[in-house]
Amino acid sequence: MTQPSSQNPLLADWTGAFGLPPFGAIKPEHFRPAFDRTLAAHRAEIDVIAADKSQPTFANTIEALERAGRALDRVSNVFFVLTGADTGETIEAIERDISPLLARHSNALYLDRALYARIADLYARRTALGLSAEQARVLDRYHTRFVRAGAALDKPAQDRLAAINERLASLGTQFGQNVLADEKAYALMLDEADLDGLPDFARAAAAAAAAERGQPGKYAITLARSSCESFLQFSARRDLREKVFQAWIKRGENGGATDNRAIIAELIALRGERARLLGYATYADYRLDDQMAKTPQAARKLLDEVWGRGRAKAAVERDALQKMVADEGGNFALAPQDWRYYAEKLRKAKYELDEAEIKPYFQLDKMIDAAFETARRLFGLTFTAVSVPLYHPDARAWEVKDASGAQVGLFIGDYFARGSKHSGAWMTLLRDQEKLVGNIRPIILNVCNFSKPAAGEPALLSFDDARTLFHEFGHGLHGLMSNVTYPSLAGTNVSSDFVELPSQLYEHWLEVPEILQKYALHAKTGQPMPKALLDRLLATRTFNQGFGTVEYTACALVDLDIHSLTDTKTLDVSEFERKTLESLHMPAEIVMRHRLPHFGHLFSGGGYAAGYYSYMWSEVLDADAFEAFEETGNAFDPATAARLREFIYSAGNLRDPIEAYTAFRGRLPAVDALLKKRGLDTVTEPADS
Ligand SMILES: [Zn+2]
Repeated sequence: MTQPSSQNPLLADWTGAFGLPPFGAIKPEHFRPAFDRTLAAHRAEIDVIAADKSQPTFANTIEALERAGRALDRVSNVFFVLTGADTGETIEAIERDISPLLARHSNALYLDRALYARIADLYARRTALGLSAEQARVLDRYHTRFVRAGAALDKPAQDRLAAINERLASLGTQFGQNVLADEKAYALMLDEADLDGLPDFARAAAAAAAAERGQPGKYAITLARSSCESFLQFSARRDLREKVFQAWIKRGENGGATDNRAIIAELIALRGERARLLGYATYADYRLDDQMAKTPQAARKLLDEVWGRGRAKAAVERDALQKMVADEGGNFALAPQDWRYYAEKLRKAKYELDEAEIKPYFQLDKMIDAAFETARRLFGLTFTAVSVPLYHPDARAWEVKDASGAQVGLFIGDYFARGSKHSGAWMTLLRDQEKLVGNIRPIILNVCNFSKPAAGEPALLSFDDARTLFHEFGHGLHGLMSNVTYPSLAGTNVSSDFVELPSQLYEHWLEVPEILQKYALHAKTGQPMPKALLDRLLATRTFNQGFGTVEYTACALVDLDIHSLTDTKTLDVSEFERKTLESLHMPAEIVMRHRLPHFGHLFSGGGYAAGYYSYMWSEVLDADAFEAFEETGNAFDPATAARLREFIYSAGNLRDPIEAYTAFRGRLPAVDALLKKRGLDTVTEPADS
């Protein structure tokens, strides 16, 4: 039964402040009818565009598609803010219901042959259409997206593609559920006497995990990354570290119903077939063709450059750790389950850094101010707190204006962890910037999971948390400062190996001394962080980066290799991983950050399939981009900031990313700054790499 739209706030006009949705009036039961109605409305709009008998024009086809589906976007945006940040059983059930409907809707759009014929006709005549540069870019993006989805294929190929897509989706879901099942099935139950070396926070978390499993008074180490990683870091019990480590790296590879190896083999084969249907030799070629990297060779070249140096640095680090083992009287060779434990000991000894000493200097509110101040000094933006109705009392809003006083948008920060929120941190939006239907300013959110303090106490962050805040705020600015006409080009709608540039770059300003001295103030005394402590904190930046580089880069290389296979008939996943690592000379003391049987980035949904390299790719860009400021001797250099605004933060997808970056930097990105940032510039590659 469909409710009349007058009773469904999701379908009404939103006339409140900033055009925000009327969160107070929206109930979970409003979503399904709102989705049904707006999906049908969008489908009808598409049908009209596709069935148009007149000659295709940019206006009656591309612009019409850009104007279509607005009601659906509004409903989806509200819904997906809630599924991430304020969910529960009811919302989750609607999500399971609605996800396949949305997938089918998008499949039908991109495999619509009549619609594609109009786009292809326009594309063939593109130079004669008198389009602006932005319009030409929009047309190019539409054409590329449709072709890459298979719109240009004949009917049998399209049918096969649709079948592959469906199978890939269910394999991906199964993969993720298997990993989760292996994680849930395992807990190492310990007694008080087994907790040697564990700090209070890890003991408390282990006690809570045991209580949750019905064993109060005991301590449980689980396979959640936070639980087992801190155990590996702090537990003095080598025998127990080995148990936990083995369970951790065997997820998805335990035989039986939750073993993921056959699923991976089928996923790889189907992805290869899909790529060949679309005219590519391998899935990696298909995937990278529409990325900034363009080819697997380009991505591999970067990884190779880092790999040898990472291994060399890791070898130096291993020797230092092995010496600690010997100094303690240990008579064993350092093994993978030992690395984190001895690295943590060395870090403490070398830098005398104690988390408890640092934390009081990173107050959440001061760090928010620091992120705002950075945006003011770089881009002239100001942030004024406003009181508007939001979806949860912890969420806060600020009106953003530029130097001329013009409204830039609304920024919403939702910083505290709670049961109704997914873990992690992300940027999302309720409204994209555009100028097609008027000067529409964006509504952008940052959602984080910082610990909420007791009433009356200031919220304190770790240095990593503060970095996360700056990172997500960088994404936020990419959305807020967007200045394009067509919404599909707005803000963060860029390729996935470019989208982390604005966020990772912004992290650099957290470490600028002027910012830290002004905003890293002790919560009790109000005093700035002493210079000696600040120096020690910043000195740890390159500590253990050989390990981090090897652990990550091995994954990125194996990812590219497995997605470059042309013969996938007899793929033995464990054997493939072993042989690939052997040929890479993987250090024996380090295991891939994600082994293939539980590598969710690649196989659970596939967002990073043949794309795990992109974290490192973006890091090359952010290190190189920040160096542009360092070269001027001013972290806020106005001319550099103006170029950064024009070509990166406000430019959305107006240009090919290589063109955008070159316009900002005056040259292509170079890897040197990254090597320096990771402390890899002073090591030489081993001869065998
Ligand atoms: Zn990010």
